[in-house]
Parts: sequence; C-alpha cells; structure tokens
Amino acid sequence: MAETPIVIAHRGASGYLPEHTLEGKALAFGLGADYLEQDVIATRDAELVVLHDLHLDDVTNVAQIFPGRERSDGRHYVIDFDLAALQQLNVFERRRPGSAAARFPERFPTAKGSFRIATLDEELVLIAGLNASMGRRVGIYPEIKHPRWHRDHGIDLSRLLFVKLAAHGYREADAPAFVQCFDAVELRRARMELGCRLNLVQLVGTEDEYAQLLSEDGLERVADYADALGPSYAQLLDAGSSAAARPKPGPLLAAARRAGLRVHPYTFRRDDLPPYAADLEQLLTLFFSGLGVDGLFCDHPDIAVRVRDSLLRGK
Ligand code: CA
Repeated sequence: MAETPIVIAHRGASGYLPEHTLEGKALAFGLGADYLEQDVIATRDAELVVLHDLHLDDVTNVAQIFPGRERSDGRHYVIDFDLAALQQLNVFERRRPGSAAARFPERFPTAKGSFRIATLDEELVLIAGLNASMGRRVGIYPEIKHPRWHRDHGIDLSRLLFVKLAAHGYREADAPAFVQCFDAVELRRARMELGCRLNLVQLVGTEDEYAQLLSEDGLERVADYADALGPSYAQLLDAGSSAAARPKPGPLLAAARRAGLRVHPYTFRRDDLPPYAADLEQLLTLFFSGLGVDGLFCDHPDIAVRVRDSLLRGK
C-alpha cells in the first residue's frame, strides 16, 4: 500500500444499523471510518434528506402512514412529500422490494427501532459535533442522486447541495469531502459551471454508457473535472478471472492512476461476498494490498479499518 487508503462508511455503519440513520452514522464514526457517506435526495419543498432511493417503500413505513399517496407504480416518492411529512415516518432496516423480508437477514432486525429520516443539515451537524468532541477530522462523502430526475421535478440538486455544503464549511479543495455522482455530465457541470472546488468522484458501473468513459481517452477526460473514480470492485479485476478462485487484477486501476485519478471501489459487505473470497477480511486484503486501492466503500467499516491497519503494520 502506498498512502494510507481511506475507509468510507457506506450509508453509515449499514452492516449494523439501518442505513443513513443518524444512529448508524454515529456508530460508523465510533468504529473509526475516515469518511461517512450521504446519499442526497430532495423533498417536494426542496429540503435535502439523506436517503438512498428515490422512493421510500423499502426502508420506511410510508404506506401505512400515507395511504393513497403512491404513484401508479405503487411506490411513494420522496419528491412527492414535504420534509414535515417525511419526518413522521419510521426508518427500518432495508427490506426486499415488495416484501417484508430483510434484504440482509443477518443485520439489524427489520421493522424494529425508532429511527427517523435525517436531513443533510442534521447529519453534517452531527459529524461536526463528533469531530469537535472526539478531536478527529472525519470527512463527508455525499452523492448527488439522480440529478436528471430532480431537474425534471424542478430541482437543481447539485446547486442546492453545494450551497448547503458551503454553509457547513465544505467549500475549498482541502475540505475533508468527496462529492460523488454516476452522471458524468452533471459531475463535469459541478466543476466547470457550478465552480465546485471540492474533491469530485466519478462513479461508474458496468453499463454500456460507461464503456467510453473507461477507455484511456475517457479517463483522461474524467480527470479534467474529477479527482477519483468509483467503480464496482469487480470492475478492477480481470474480467475473465473474476469468477475464478484466485482472480487477477485487471487494467482499470493502473489506467485510472495514469490519468491522475485515485480509485475508490464500492461496495464491500460481509454478507454479500463473491465466490473467490472466504470472508470479508480476505476480500479487503486483496483490494487493499493485492491491488492497492486508494480507499473503499464498506458496510462494515470496523472490519475495513482493522484489515487496513494490520496490513499497514505489516502483519
Ligand atoms: Ca451512494
């Protein structure tokens, strides 16, 4: 490992507490994460809340509290509710869509607890307060979720986000913040048009739309506006070997580095392992040590911190 790779708490300590709750963020902080992730969605009254999905159905009791407010697809969308209404909801451990069954059965019992939707303001206040009281500098890692969807509903999510981040002191390039987005047009706009000086992370998936972006030329263009690349970890392996018992590194990590990008793959989870990893520790060791990533997203930040630190000590 070169520089100390960062551990990004994916949706908080989501392996242990319902994702994106303040409780989960406080736990992730306490477990030693370097950065806490926020997925950012806007409400009807243009407030910013921390939620992963555009709809509320898989993590809240919205159908019980607001019957009849669903769209024709049966789902209740965040953008159709004012913040005051959203604050009446309970947040639960994630369920499988259209089911009462937990997405990850070994996690916090679903339908239990008294968790609430957090605003981005509330979460940023929590992190700043913990940094003050514990003498740390844990960073933030907000994601601009579905900017085109928001624009179609009359909301410029990126602009709202950057105003909010600046109000909390996240303004300059050296602020402990990475802003991520899957939409390359929007992320470029954040840098070139909205004047964002924070670290930017281009998220990518395996979809066709990213093929050009992941070419040598494409990565050079990404590096014009972004500081890091956020691929799925499988994208960093040799495609032919990713189902093998001992997968080999692919060319993407080195290509991204040549373009000047750091690489932060997603998402490492104890309860969703690829066939070649016996446990999360082994998987993390492969990416921290075998590949040498600059950071990674993990649902179990304590395990990622422990594995990273023991590798750094050379054990
Ligand atoms: Ca995210």
